[in-house]
Amino acid sequence: MVLAELGGSISRAIQQMSNATIIDEKALNDCLNEITRALLQSDVQFKLVRDMQTNIKKIVNLDDLAAGHNKRKIIQQAIFNELCKMLDPGKPSFTLKKGKTSVVMFVGLQGSGKTTTCTKYAYYHQKKGWKPALVCADTFRAGAFDQLKQNATKAKIPFYGSYMESDPVKISVEGVERFKKENCDLIIVDTSGRHKQEVALFEEMRQVAEATKPDLVIFVMDSSIGQAAFDQAQAFKQSVAVGAVIVTKMDGHAKGGGALSAVAATKSPVIFIGTGEHMDEFEVFDVKPFVSRLLGMGDWSGFMDKIQEVVPMDQQPELLQKLSEGNFTLRIMYEQFQNLLKMGPIGQIQVFSMLPGFSSELMPKGREKESQAKIKRYMTMMDSMTNEELDSSNPKLMNESRIMRIARGSGRSVRDVMEMLEEYKRLAKIWSKMKGLKIPKKGEMSALSRNMNA
Ligand code: GDP
Repeated sequence: MVLAELGGSISRAIQQMSNATIIDEKALNDCLNEITRALLQSDVQFKLVRDMQTNIKKIVNLDDLAAGHNKRKIIQQAIFNELCKMLDPGKPSFTLKKGKTSVVMFVGLQGSGKTTTCTKYAYYHQKKGWKPALVCADTFRAGAFDQLKQNATKAKIPFYGSYMESDPVKISVEGVERFKKENCDLIIVDTSGRHKQEVALFEEMRQVAEATKPDLVIFVMDSSIGQAAFDQAQAFKQSVAVGAVIVTKMDGHAKGGGALSAVAATKSPVIFIGTGEHMDEFEVFDVKPFVSRLLGMGDWSGFMDKIQEVVPMDQQPELLQKLSEGNFTLRIMYEQFQNLLKMGPIGQIQVFSMLPGFSSELMPKGREKESQAKIKRYMTMMDSMTNEELDSSNPKLMNESRIMRIARGSGRSVRDVMEMLEEYKRLAKIWSKMKGLKIPKKGEMSALSRNMNA
């Protein structure tokens, strides 16, 4: 995903500024110009980028910051907050209530991934105990009904549509009525897309909305839309009451910055992102963890939730205890690798992207096989380590003779061992943030993760 490149560019700009001997006007401007360039290259709308730059300059008034202030930290925090602000419209989307019927209407251009996303959305909720149903009101695209039918059947979700009826309003009303009678609590209406914004499309959308009175209208946008995102999203918003956005194809080569523009145009939050063609390649979108991930700061809240899936229950308190003492040892790294290799490929990717520091460098998307081989190689080398080496968090312990012994014992080169130790140091640095962590009692995980992201 090219968004990762954007994150990399921003992180580098911040790093460069941090390396400057004095943080003065010039260092700040250089950093902000670099970030501006990166955002524009990622297709974020010009006005948004300019506003962000102005806001940061307003917040970070270097003259007012006394010498004792940690300017780097203040600037970094301001950049983080402004990026979050771009993606956060300040109000949550409509909250659906399980057990109470909600009608959700999907709108977007043809090819944006609307039909696929309708099923993903239904499937996601079905797994959480909802009773969803799908209505195909796309009478424009030949094959739309077949596609929805196929997806719905695969996911065992009831659907409604017609090969004969050409009036989308009639179909949507009939579908919604029927599923209300069947006590479905999430009725999803897929509308037609067309290739480009045109009067007929918006008129049809308006009519379907008027007839079905949706509780929520979701605008689906392809992340590769680029600079056109703002205008497109705004045009939809002006026709129907868009309340949330889903950005699709975040797994591809799209620059993704359009997502930020769509939020600004619709003043609605991104609630999910599509990360593949498969039904469960769909992620809940949360601003702070996303920006943390974008800037390579790790997604602590996602991590704290995922840790319960990855680390066996009986090992969790022990692991957290060790981390809270600031001891990220080679043994902990080894155990994490072990846990991750036990999971299936999809689980691994999901978890790797959550674990702070593991995602971009250790397991870049699309190169999972190579990464797994690398991890196995690291583990072989660690197998040749003594208990003292595995349990120490003192990097100085690993002297030349120990490194040579490990290389010989594992049949790898000294360079390989050095590489593994570098990786360990990188992760240890990131994970040292866990030092001082309050160990949660059962059920306190979410509260803890909120604290860590605050
Ligand atoms: P619609 O015309 O808006 O209903 O779009 P479709 O749902 O038919 O999707 C168009 C194409 O995009 C299909 O080939 C989908 O499989 C694909 N697609 C949808 N969402 C995603 C996604 O998140 N990632 C990827 N890689 N492909 C997607």
